[in-house]
Amino acid sequence: MTEQVKRVYRFGKDSQGVNVTEGAASMKGVLGGKGANLAEMANIGLPVPPGFTITCQTCMEYANAGNVWPDGALDEIRAYRVDLEERMGKKIGDASDPLLVSVRSGAPMSMPGMMDTVLNLGLNDESIQGLIAQTGNPRFAWDSYRRFIQMFSNVVIGLDGDLFENAIIAMKQRRGAASDTDLTAEDLAELVSEFKAIFSQNTSAADYPSLVVDGEVRFPQDPMVQLQLAIEAVFGSWNNPRATLYRQKNKIADDLGTAVNVQCMVFGNKGNTSATGVAFTRNPADGTKEFYGDYLVNAQGEDVVAGIRNTSPISELKHVEGLTEAGQELEDVFVLLENHFRDMMDIEFTIEQGKLWMLQTRAGKRTAASALKVAIDMQREGLISKEEAVCCVEPSQLDQLLHPQFDKNARYDVLARGLNASPGAAVGKVVFSAADAVEAAERGEKTVLVRWETTPDDLAGMIAAEGILTSHGGKTSHAAVIARGMGAPCVCGAEALRIDAEKKQATVVGTDVVLREGDIISLDGTTGIVVLGAVDLVQPELTGDLDTILEWADEFRTLGVRANADNPEDAQLSREFGAEGIGLDRTEHMFLGERKQIIQSFILNEDEETREKAIADLYAAQTGDFYGMFKAMDGLPVIVRLLDPPLHEFLESPRTLDVEIARMEASGADARAVAEKRALLAKIDSFVEANPMLGLRGCRLGIVYPILPVMQVRAIATAAARLKKEGLDPRPEIMIPLVSTVNELAKLREVAQRTIAEVVEAEGVELHLEIGTMIELPRAAVTADEIATQADFFSFGTNDLTQTTFGFSRDDVEGEFIPQYLTEKLLPYNPFATIDPGVAKLVKMGVDLGRQGNPDLTVGVCGEHGGDPDSIHAFHKIGLDYVSCSPYRVPVARLAAAQAALK
Ligand code: PEP
Ligand code: MG
Repeated sequence: MTEQVKRVYRFGKDSQGVNVTEGAASMKGVLGGKGANLAEMANIGLPVPPGFTITCQTCMEYANAGNVWPDGALDEIRAYRVDLEERMGKKIGDASDPLLVSVRSGAPMSMPGMMDTVLNLGLNDESIQGLIAQTGNPRFAWDSYRRFIQMFSNVVIGLDGDLFENAIIAMKQRRGAASDTDLTAEDLAELVSEFKAIFSQNTSAADYPSLVVDGEVRFPQDPMVQLQLAIEAVFGSWNNPRATLYRQKNKIADDLGTAVNVQCMVFGNKGNTSATGVAFTRNPADGTKEFYGDYLVNAQGEDVVAGIRNTSPISELKHVEGLTEAGQELEDVFVLLENHFRDMMDIEFTIEQGKLWMLQTRAGKRTAASALKVAIDMQREGLISKEEAVCCVEPSQLDQLLHPQFDKNARYDVLARGLNASPGAAVGKVVFSAADAVEAAERGEKTVLVRWETTPDDLAGMIAAEGILTSHGGKTSHAAVIARGMGAPCVCGAEALRIDAEKKQATVVGTDVVLREGDIISLDGTTGIVVLGAVDLVQPELTGDLDTILEWADEFRTLGVRANADNPEDAQLSREFGAEGIGLDRTEHMFLGERKQIIQSFILNEDEETREKAIADLYAAQTGDFYGMFKAMDGLPVIVRLLDPPLHEFLESPRTLDVEIARMEASGADARAVAEKRALLAKIDSFVEANPMLGLRGCRLGIVYPILPVMQVRAIATAAARLKKEGLDPRPEIMIPLVSTVNELAKLREVAQRTIAEVVEAEGVELHLEIGTMIELPRAAVTADEIATQADFFSFGTNDLTQTTFGFSRDDVEGEFIPQYLTEKLLPYNPFATIDPGVAKLVKMGVDLGRQGNPDLTVGVCGEHGGDPDSIHAFHKIGLDYVSCSPYRVPVARLAAAQAALK
C-alpha cells in the first residue's frame, strides 16, 4: 500500500488558544517561504491569523496532470477547512457570523508580486448580512464584498480590471463623490449588484459550466466553489508570463511550484484603531539600524503596496492614538524576529481594532549597500559569525555598488524630486510603457521607464530600461521593491510629475516642462533626483563596507582572482579591486585605431620591405604597451596571450568596400583609384573564410606567420628586461591560444624560448618567463596530459570551449535560438553566461589530465564564466587555482569564491 502524501499543513492556534501548527521555517520546499515562516511565527508565539497551507508539490502535481487535482487532495482541503472553522468557531459563508479567508501564493523562493492573491473569500449574498450584523458596519461589509468580487473576477476568471474600475468611476460621478471613501453603504451595495452583472456578462459559460444557474453564469455563492477556484487560480499563476520571466531572470527552477496559504482574514479597514502596513527591521536601502516602512490607518494591505493613498512612516505608528499598544508590540516583534531568524526581515502586518496580527515575514530584499552594512553590523552585534556575514551578501548584487553615479562636478537643474528608492544613476530616453521600453532596448536604445506606478505586468519593461521613475508610491511600492532586487536605479513617488501615459507625455508641476517620449532625462536613485537632459556619470570608488566584506571573504577563499585587462588603466583598476594578477591580456585589443593600419599593411602586402617595416612598427608599439601593463601590475603575474582572432577581423569589411566602389563609380571617380580599391577588395576577399572562428586564428596564426609570435614575444621580453633594469619586478607569462595538439604548442614554445633567449642575450638581463596555453578546444581538454608536458600553465577559455563543445557560434547564437531554447526549456540557462555541466566536465578532465602530465601546472579560467558566481562555485569544486574576469567583476568573484569555499 502506498503511503498517503500529506498535502495540507495547518498553522496558528486552536479554539483553546493552543498552538496546533504542523510546519516550521525549515519546510520552505514544501510550504513555500510564506507558509513556512507563518508556521515559524506561530511556533514562536507571535500572533498569526490561523490558517492552512497547501503544499508546493500539490501545485506541481496539479499542473503536470494538465490542471487535474491529485486523488484525495480536495478531500484533505475540505477537512482542513472544517478544522479551521472549528478552531475559529465560525463557518465560511455563514449567514450570521461568517469566517472570511485570504488565499495567497507563496513559493519556496521569494517572488514578490509575481503571483496571485484573493482576499475576503467566503462572502456571498447571505454571509454579507452576517458580516454587517457582526461588525455593525454595513459600509465596511459592502466594501469588502465588492473588493472580493472585483479581485475574484480579475484573478480567478481573468476579467479586465477596468470593467470594475469604470463602474466605480461612473458611480462616483453619479453621486458627485470625490473619492471611493465618499461612497455610502447603499452605493457600495448597488456596486455589488453591478459587479455581479459584469461578472455574468463577461464570464464564459463554456469555461465555467459549474457556475451556470438557470442558463446564466452567476457569481459563485458556494464558499467551497469559491475556494477551489481561487486555489486553482493561484496554482495557475505559477506559470503566468511574469512569474516565468522572473524565474528565468533569477535562475529559479520551474518545477518548485507555489504553495497556497488559506488564512483567516483580519481587517485593517475597520476604523481608526485599525491599520495595515509593510516594514523592514532595518533600512533596506542603506542598512541603517532603524525600523523602516509605511502604514495606513483604516486600510487593507493591498492599499499600501499599490500606493493608492499616501502612507506614513512606521516610526510614527506607536504615537497614533488608538494604535499605541499595537505599535509598541510591533517594534518588540521586529526585535524578536531579527534575533530568531538572524537576518534583516521584511514584515506585513495588520492591526484590527487595536489587535496586532502578523501576516508575513521573510528575509528582506535589500540593496547591495544595505546588504553589506547589515552583514557587518550583525556580525559586530554578535548575531552572526564572520562566515555567515560573508555568505549573506549576494555576489551578483555587488554590481550595484559599481553602478555609475552623477559626476559630483556636473552642473544641472533638478527637474523633480522623489524617493531614493534604488541606488545608482541612469540616463536614457523617456518611455511611458513597458512595451516601449522593451522595443527601444531591442533597437539598442537606453531608456528610463516613467510610470504613475509600476505593476507586475511592467516587469519586462523594468528589466529593459536603464532606470525607473514613478510619480506615486512609497519605498515599499512595487517599483521600489523590484528595482532594488534587480539593482536598477529607481526614483519613485516624484509627485510633481503629471503623467498622461496615453498621450505619452508628462507635465511637471511648478515648471513649464513637458516631457515627451524620446526626451532624454537623468535620474539618481541614490538621492531621488530627476534631471532634464543627460548628466555626466562617474563610476564610484570602493570603500568602507565593501572593503571589509571583501577582506573577510579573502580570509576564506582558496581560489585566486585575476582580471582580464589589456591596458594599463584597466590593469590598475583591477588591482585596486583586489585582482592578484592579469589572467588574460588579449593583445589583439592593442591593435585598434592607428595600429590597425599597421597590421593591415602587414597582412595585405607581400613585399618584404613593407612587411618588415610593419613588424618593426608593431614591435615598437607593443613594447610600449607591455611596459605599461607590467609596470601597473608590478610584482604580479600578467598572462599575455599571443594574437588570437581571425586576421580578417583587422581588415575592412568586403561589403563596405563594395558599397564604396559603387559610390566611387557612380560619382565618376578616377579610374585608377577605383582599380586600386578593387584590388584591395580582391585581396581581402582572399582572406574570407566560411567559418572564421574555426579557421586561421589562435596558434594557427603563429604557425602560418611565424614572425608574429616572434615580434610579440620579443616585445614582451624586452619590456620586462627594461623594467627589471629599472629595479621593478615584472612577471609576464606567455600564453598560446587555441591549441588542439601538443605539437602546435611544442613548436610555438620553442619559438618563444628562442626569442626570449635572444632578448636575454641582447639586454643582459635574466628572464624566467612561463609559457602556457589556453585549453579552449575539446581535443585539447581530452589530451591535456600530453599538452601539459609542454605547458607551465593552462587557462581554460570557456567561451571558445562552450562554442566548440556545443557547436554553437558564440557570435550569433544569443540572438538566434538560445532565447527559444530557454523558453522551451531545452537549456536551463545560457551556457555562455553560466558554465554548462558538460563543458565543466571537459574542464575537470583537462585539469586532472593536465596535472598528471605536469604536477606543477597552474590552472585557471579566463572565459566570461570566470566572473559568474554560479560558475565560480563549479570551478572551486573542480579545483582550479584561480578565475580571471573583467575588472568590475573582481569584487564579485572574490566574494563568490569565498562562498564557494564556505559551502
Ligand atoms: C575564451 O575563449 O574563453 C577566451 C577567454 O578567449 P576569447 O574570448 O578571447 O576567445
Ligand atoms: Mg578563446
